[in-house]
Amino acid sequence: MGIFERERQELVDILTEKGIYDLAVIKAIGEVERHRFVPKAMRHHSYRDVALPIGYGQTISQPYTVAYMTQALELKQNSKVLEIGTGSGYQAALLFNMGMNVYSIERQFEIYDRTRRLLDELGIRVNTKCGDGTIGWDEFAPYDGIIVTAGSPSVPESLKKQLAINGRLVIPVGSKNSQILKIITKLDNEEFSIRDVPEFSFVPLIGREGWNQK
Ligand code: SAM
Repeated sequence: MGIFERERQELVDILTEKGIYDLAVIKAIGEVERHRFVPKAMRHHSYRDVALPIGYGQTISQPYTVAYMTQALELKQNSKVLEIGTGSGYQAALLFNMGMNVYSIERQFEIYDRTRRLLDELGIRVNTKCGDGTIGWDEFAPYDGIIVTAGSPSVPESLKKQLAINGRLVIPVGSKNSQILKIITKLDNEEFSIRDVPEFSFVPLIGREGWNQK
């Protein structure tokens, strides 16, 4: 049995009990080694269902939140997905494991650089860039799914524009301390359907169409 394999299976059981049902998401949580994305000093906590600090004031999100948001995207194999907030790289690794074509943007250079090296080392092929994700990544649009892993004061128009028809944008929106998860489906270029899921808590999305930097 590999390192932390039992702990990873226990995490899968916890998430299933909490209502995660998408088999591709469950498989990915069971296979991707979260401990690789967690700072060494914190590794023994890797398979608890909690967010953990990754340095520079940022976090690797709680596994339940990651699983819930990924499930909410309702992706098909080989979909093109844009992630805003690469952070540790764990979410990007899950999407890659699920067979997605992944694009991910991180605004803090130190985090971007460290995670880029880690992804290369682990053979996880995702396209990354350092920049302001609130304006999306126009060059490769449209995306079948866009997942924003930091809390925003509103839904950035650029991200709505870069979504494919029938694509989904999953984004926490609210105050700096607490957000509602918005699951937005693009029906056509003007029309969107929105479902709100209450009570999530993320670090702030900072950028032109997000929060101002303090
Ligand atoms: N998805 C990450 C993971 O799997 O570890 C979680 C990342 S953390 C909760 C949110 C990240 O969003 C932080 O690394 C933060 O620097 C980044 N961030 C905040 N505002 C951003 C922006 N405008 N563009 C890109 N990244 C941003």
